[in-house]
Amino acid sequence: MLNNSIGKLLHEAKQRLMERHLDTNAAEILIETRLGLSRSELWQSLDREISEEGQLQFEKDFARYLDGEPAQYILETAPFYGYDFYVDPRVLIPRPETEELVLLAENHLKKQSAQNALDICTGSGIIAITLKKLFPKLPVTASDLSEKALQVAQKNAKALQADVCFKRMNLIDAFLETGEKFDLIIANPPYIAESEKSEMSASVLAHEPSLALFAENEGLAIYQELIHKLPKIVMDNYWIAFEIGYTQGDAVKELFQKSFPQASVIVHKDINQKNRMVSCTNILI
Ligand code: GLN
Repeated sequence: MLNNSIGKLLHEAKQRLMERHLDTNAAEILIETRLGLSRSELWQSLDREISEEGQLQFEKDFARYLDGEPAQYILETAPFYGYDFYVDPRVLIPRPETEELVLLAENHLKKQSAQNALDICTGSGIIAITLKKLFPKLPVTASDLSEKALQVAQKNAKALQADVCFKRMNLIDAFLETGEKFDLIIANPPYIAESEKSEMSASVLAHEPSLALFAENEGLAIYQELIHKLPKIVMDNYWIAFEIGYTQGDAVKELFQKSFPQASVIVHKDINQKNRMVSCTNILI
């Protein structure tokens, strides 16, 4: 087989993506990631010949992408907060909104240190691992119901050399037994209502784990159970922040106010000006 240049491969792939009204950036992402090139290195390598092996790999990847599979699952990697995380269909693909949740926690921790942090519904471990990388001295625990997700989280923690303690349980149930307490609690739990399915992309519905996406009661069921149980595992001073669906600000705020009547509860917007996080704290700074 005659070898193609990277430039020709890229050009043809973009052409095909355009014809199908798909994101043409996918061609660059698939090629550069497999070849281990940065975007600027890719531009400098357009005349380079791609090996037969490289070309076959690209054809396989590209066919999967055209078939609707997310590029992050094809490449088994996704960026989050400057780190590369391993992902596969056992876990959700990290979303940029969740980076804003971590930023909120980072800004809090810069002002007020914590003694024991907990990430609930950790999934691939992105939140817990990133916190540990940012604050290496902070003890970080992470929980999830899914054994399969925890396998992915553990793989990520090892690869990124983050010493996070992973525990399998429903939400925080094991801590209700052991009495372990936390002063920084963060979560991006499943919060999508079944009724929202019709507005979701086919690719998400077909490939991402529904356990990580959906919750009963208009998507509020996990918040209801979790926030009801939370007062039992918080230390005297606590800071809690959850990601939410953009319509859930008032409902989740109310749940926090019921469980923590003395706390200050704030709904935060994301960069798209949508309600995206709720924090609850009794620390005044
Ligand atoms: N905490 C993980 C994330 O932010 C998983 C979230 C989930 O499974 N709902 O991606």
